[in-house]
Amino acid sequence: MIESNIKKVLVSEEEIQKRVKELGKIITKDFKETKGLIVVGLLRGSILFMADLMREIKLPLKIDFMTVSSYGNQFETTREVKILKDLDENVMGKDILIVEDIIDSGLTLSKIMEILKNRNPNSIKLCTLLNKSARREVNIKADYIGFDIPDEFVLGYGLDYLQEYRNLPYVGVMKEDVNE
Ligand code: 5GP
Ligand code: MG
Ligand code: MG
Repeated sequence: MIESNIKKVLVSEEEIQKRVKELGKIITKDFKETKGLIVVGLLRGSILFMADLMREIKLPLKIDFMTVSSYGNQFETTREVKILKDLDENVMGKDILIVEDIIDSGLTLSKIMEILKNRNPNSIKLCTLLNKSARREVNIKADYIGFDIPDEFVLGYGLDYLQEYRNLPYVGVMKEDVNE
């Protein structure tokens, strides 16, 4: 049972679904006048959030995905951000909504924003499910935040530990002794 490795539920399935609906409403309103919305999900952590959120955005839109490497396999952050899979869409003149699972140091996002800005979109907005502001290293602010969370390693609803646990429908905190 994967759930036996979970110390506590930080954000429940019900809380997530309620907040996703709220965010969808706000985003729908904010992008009403868009002449081309591209929702960009950062793989792999954003997939559950992206799938739920896009159903609540009641506007014509395209989706695309990008994979960057920032974290190693465990808890450590590496300083380098590399594009492993780039967008397929041309974003010039479009309104980009980046969908991310969590902003921690902010290094990944600031690099991605910089790359996408250079492609001359009309606008770039950022939506993150989780925000861990305690660990921010660069000045980056999300336009839409699901939940502000404390500095704990979380998993579930897209977020992994060693590539597992992404399928949990809630966000939880893992037991420290899981590897013992
Ligand atoms: P940042 O560049 O903001 O430090 O972090 C970028 C990425 O690190 C996130 O998109 C996420 O994939 C991963 N990450 C940061 N904090 C956590 C966490 O608490 N749990 C998990 N599973 N991944 C995290
Ligand atoms: Mg991520
Ligand atoms: Mg990860």
